[in-house]
Amino acid sequence: RAKAEGRGSYRFYEPGMDERMQQRRAMEIDLRRALPLGQLHLVYQPKLNLQSNSLVGFEALIRWSHPQRGLVSPADFIPLAEEIGAIVNIGEWALREACRQAASWPKPVSVAVNLSPVQFRTGKILQTVSSALAYSRLEPSRLELEITEGALMEHSSAILGVLNGLRALGVRIAMDDFGTGYSSLGYLQKFPFDAIKIDRSFVRGIDTSAERRVIVRAITQLASALGMTTTAEGIETWAQLECVREEGCTDVQGYLTGRPLSREAARMLLDHRFAENSEMDLA
Ligand code: C2E
Ligand code: MG
Ligand code: MG
Ligand code: MG
Repeated sequence: RAKAEGRGSYRFYEPGMDERMQQRRAMEIDLRRALPLGQLHLVYQPKLNLQSNSLVGFEALIRWSHPQRGLVSPADFIPLAEEIGAIVNIGEWALREACRQAASWPKPVSVAVNLSPVQFRTGKILQTVSSALAYSRLEPSRLELEITEGALMEHSSAILGVLNGLRALGVRIAMDDFGTGYSSLGYLQKFPFDAIKIDRSFVRGIDTSAERRVIVRAITQLASALGMTTTAEGIETWAQLECVREEGCTDVQGYLTGRPLSREAARMLLDHRFAENSEMDLA
């Protein structure tokens, strides 16, 4: 079998390797069946605007309830799904499901969906997005697509065309996990982003680290000069919230202001918020 991995590649068989490969293979088989068996669902994490102190949208995050393993984190199965190509169908499903939910919400808040770099390689992402919009009848301006730098690094001229096409449909585009990965500032100039999501690693410790604070300030200033909004990811404490507010972030997302919610709970939050008062108590 080692030969099949490619000529000239050396593989060392340690004890436990066969078992690990078997485990991986089993996971692969399970993952391919997850979607048809209805084991995937989406949860929705609230996004709040710091100027209006109100709920402005949700990010859709995928969950896998595996019959034996229980709830498997996307961090553990998205990379495998990308490797085996299953992310294409899974991502298309997530997009449709998120659009369908958002179209049925009692208030016109936004929904953000994560796209994998692998989905860009199919060459039909534009078609996938426009058909999800048509099928759900969701107003395009209510859809935000989150992409990481990984998608931009390869074939960047083809990607540019796709991103421009997506924007022509009227959807918003956000750069996710900004500051991790390669973060070339050139990307911000070259690609038509509407928003930057500042990675949680800069938010963590922002209230005690002068350096992180300065970095966040620089990002928000750059973003606003380029006409982009900024969302601080992973806000867990009031101190962090105050810091990112002072440094000019537009929006926040994190456990402090809301954990990812089931679609029922997301709907209840919308019903409740807008029935009682539309402001969240952030001031
Ligand atoms: P992401 O897009 O950066 O999503 C944010 C992640 O941070 C989510 O993890 C969320 O639950 C977590 N998070 C949010 N607030 C906090 C906080 O205050 N503290 C901490 N410690 N964590 C927080 P999750 O749901 O496990 O998703 C992990 C990653 O998996 C996502 O990172 C995204 O890259 C990927 N992912 C999730 N759903 C999809 C999907 O439908 N398609 C694709 N391609 N990727 C997805
Ligand atoms: Mg995201
Ligand atoms: Mg993110
Ligand atoms: Mg992140």
